[in-house]
Amino acid sequence: MTDTRRPTWCDIDLNALAHNYTAIKSHVGTAEVMPVVKADAYGHGITQVAQRLQQLEAPCLAVAYVEEGITLRKNGITTPIHVLGGAVERQIPLFIEHDLTFTAPSVDKLKQINEAAEAAKTIARVHLKIDTGMERIGIHHYNADTLFEIALQCPSIEVEGVFSHFASADDPDLTFARLQLERFFDALEFFTRHNLPMPKQHIANSAAIMALPESHLDLVRPGLLLYGVAPTPEPPDIEIRPVLSWRTEVIYFKVVEAGNPVSYGGTWAPTHPTRIVTLPVGYADGYRRALSNQAQIIINDNLHNVVGRVCMDQTMVDIGTTSAYNGDQAILIGASGDHQISVQDLAQWSDTIPYEILTAITARVPRRWHP
Ligand SMILES: *Cc1c(COP(=O)(O)O)cnc(C)c1O
Repeated sequence: MTDTRRPTWCDIDLNALAHNYTAIKSHVGTAEVMPVVKADAYGHGITQVAQRLQQLEAPCLAVAYVEEGITLRKNGITTPIHVLGGAVERQIPLFIEHDLTFTAPSVDKLKQINEAAEAAKTIARVHLKIDTGMERIGIHHYNADTLFEIALQCPSIEVEGVFSHFASADDPDLTFARLQLERFFDALEFFTRHNLPMPKQHIANSAAIMALPESHLDLVRPGLLLYGVAPTPEPPDIEIRPVLSWRTEVIYFKVVEAGNPVSYGGTWAPTHPTRIVTLPVGYADGYRRALSNQAQIIINDNLHNVVGRVCMDQTMVDIGTTSAYNGDQAILIGASGDHQISVQDLAQWSDTIPYEILTAITARVPRRWHP
């Protein structure tokens, strides 16, 4: 069979994913691990990632939107799925139809969910969302009692969990994260005070899993860490492996004379004749324009600079006096020989966070999953 694949692709190492899941699981001890697979599993492929996690018997999965949960159900995922984002009223029946777990961030929403569940003659599984300092969705911690009281009166609602979210657990100064945790515990006092069974409590994202062991509680919600990327530049104390690598191939070679600018806007020109190769990848693939004149790329075990502006579909690299031929591999994210380019590196070069690098890789880039 002839190989007609696009010369730009991402490799997804599902064994590394499994390794990371297991490493996180042993790091958090008795807490359950709910892998976060929103945003196409941070660009890794939601269905393939969920299938592997289901094989590993992950107790539940988390997505952001109801559509992501429906995709998983349609692809045969039977593991419980928690939709972290709020539901808009007209979509509530979709949760029920596809057996997805709700987030209830307000009394109004709780009532809507209860009514819909009642109409469908079912019990809706709900996690109540408490805002302890993010000022995003969720009832304020100082008003949480109201939400708890009403939730417990709703006949068609099962309060499976209560959760919150850290605003800055990736900050070296954990003062605010600790305050949020304290507020969360204060809100949860409601259940002890009323002698009620305690729902599952959870608040820890990747950063908190590493930095705040006292926040692990019943369940942790790792996203980034699961994909082998640390949320902060410092190396994590959990041994994680990068799951995604991104490669392309040299498609053109030329010598550029001194002083002749390369790419749009002429932002870079060589001071002496040099060898420039073109790669078939650009910002429409998610190789961000902010990487222009900033990023490095590995070609034939050497690190080289991206020169000139990254275009929509092509990127130029200065290989100096080294050689490269059409078809030679170029590594945008990944390792070869003595060199490694991490998602963190790309984030730093383009002044953003690793989350944005991963989720920016567009659907135009084919993924190859390795079991
Ligand atoms: C995305 C998300 C997570 C995962 O965050 P990471 O930093 O990737 O671990 C956890 N909880 C909520 C509510 C989220 O939205």
